[in-house]
Amino acid sequence: MNENRCIKCGSCLRACPVLNDPTGRTFPGPRTTGVDAPRFPERLSMGTAALMCTMCHACEWACPSSLPLTRSMLLTREEMSKAVPPLEGHQRMRESVRHTGRTVDTDFREWREEGAKVLYFPGCIGLGRLPDMVRDTSRLLDELGIEHDISSKALCCGSPLLKVGALEEAEMLHRHNAEVLSSYETIITSCPGCTYHLREVYGVRVSHVVELLEGKELRSEAEGVWALQVPCHLKRGVGPWAAEGMVNALEGAGTRLSRIPDEDSCCGGGGGMLSGFPGIASSIARSKATSYRRAAVSGVITACPFCALSLRRQGLTVLDISQAIRPRR
Ligand code: SF4
Ligand code: SF4
Repeated sequence: MNENRCIKCGSCLRACPVLNDPTGRTFPGPRTTGVDAPRFPERLSMGTAALMCTMCHACEWACPSSLPLTRSMLLTREEMSKAVPPLEGHQRMRESVRHTGRTVDTDFREWREEGAKVLYFPGCIGLGRLPDMVRDTSRLLDELGIEHDISSKALCCGSPLLKVGALEEAEMLHRHNAEVLSSYETIITSCPGCTYHLREVYGVRVSHVVELLEGKELRSEAEGVWALQVPCHLKRGVGPWAAEGMVNALEGAGTRLSRIPDEDSCCGGGGGMLSGFPGIASSIARSKATSYRRAAVSGVITACPFCALSLRRQGLTVLDISQAIRPRR
């Protein structure tokens, strides 16, 4: 990265949900961790404060010099993870991966291992915390005529481990999963973080559920008026077309939407924040919940297990898109 292209405009700082939250003021920010840190030997003095980032890509989108801030911050994290002891929550996540292969354990036992050509890959948070979403997505795929497996052998994609600098564990999972995924022609995910990681790092054919809905005849299952939580990793990771696809699918199905200005701002749950800095994650989610309550909607529709979990913990009714629409018969 050519750090000299930083014109010190501060756009990245203004876009950052952590710096804009009262609990996140000790985060050095994307300019320090992404632009300055790589140049200065004192960078490790930031300690774990450098990890106070949800990896939402908002800074990168705001940067007029198109600096690859997320990539640069990941490199800083990797170096930091070798120099300072891990945060308690990140250590727990790494131990869970060591023992179960997933960042959180799961009671889900409705595996489908029938040799289908398509694998539904719900992701760790879906399997461990949102089994309702996993069942509803699998039902939606059945109704769309997509025969699929849900494999007990497919483990964490490794993306959360990369975010906390645990490269070796991420590579171990990659090697394991590559063999499991090789039996399938295509993968379908519910988590945009998994979609992005499987596409960019594994190089496999993968679609997020919203990408399957384009051109489909759908009807709404959501009564009343709903707001959207547009996931960071759907819009700024998978791509803006995927976020548009989510809106188009819902509007096409006849869902009544109330669009709020910060619908695409971060829920606070990504980048290892839920496990590493639960107080900051929950404060960011609380601010979002306040916006949704002001909009007086029936609830929120999203397309990411992290967003659903973070906002449900604030007492909101939150549906995954698989729970808000059905194919027309
Ligand atoms: S990725 Fe998001 S949370 Fe992290 S520094 Fe950039 S704007 Fe802030
Ligand atoms: S937005 Fe880009 S150019 Fe502006 S201060 Fe941040 S890194 Fe530098």
